[in-house]
Amino acid sequence: MKANSYDAAKRILSRYLEHNKCRKTPERFAVLEAVYGFSSYFSIQDLDGRLSEMNFPVCRATLYNTIKLLMDLRLIVCRRLQCGMRYKAGYADNKCVQVCIVCGKVTEVKVPEVDDVFEHVRLKRFRKESYTACIYGVCSTCQAMLTRQKNRENTINKQE
Ligand SMILES: [Zn+2]
Repeated sequence: MKANSYDAAKRILSRYLEHNKCRKTPERFAVLEAVYGFSSYFSIQDLDGRLSEMNFPVCRATLYNTIKLLMDLRLIVCRRLQCGMRYKAGYADNKCVQVCIVCGKVTEVKVPEVDDVFEHVRLKRFRKESYTACIYGVCSTCQAMLTRQKNRENTINKQE
């Protein structure tokens, strides 16, 4: 398991759940841990088996819901292979993502300057393998929502 990418993925999931007022259930984190334990593509059955080995059996509905959530957060990639649907931990793939700190939405962005920096960076006593750059901020939907909220508060204050 690439510990660095798992930790980063865990932070993203955690942040997303907090901001969307979802419960941080141990099942969700167990699924994430199992997913990041695979070094390549796996099936739902493989994942199910791994969770049982971890003594953390999760019901199918929770498993599918969590996989869907992890896909939305781009923490899992999914491919339709000849043998059926297969999944893979999708974090730390030399990419740059923007993360909305309000709703937790994660979008991949192309920033050639960032690629360039990581390509040429020299690190002391450390061999780099991959990177993920997160740009934190507020997405346009949340910006609009915050503006509407502010306007409403201003109107209420004026009325008082
Ligand atoms: Zn947002």
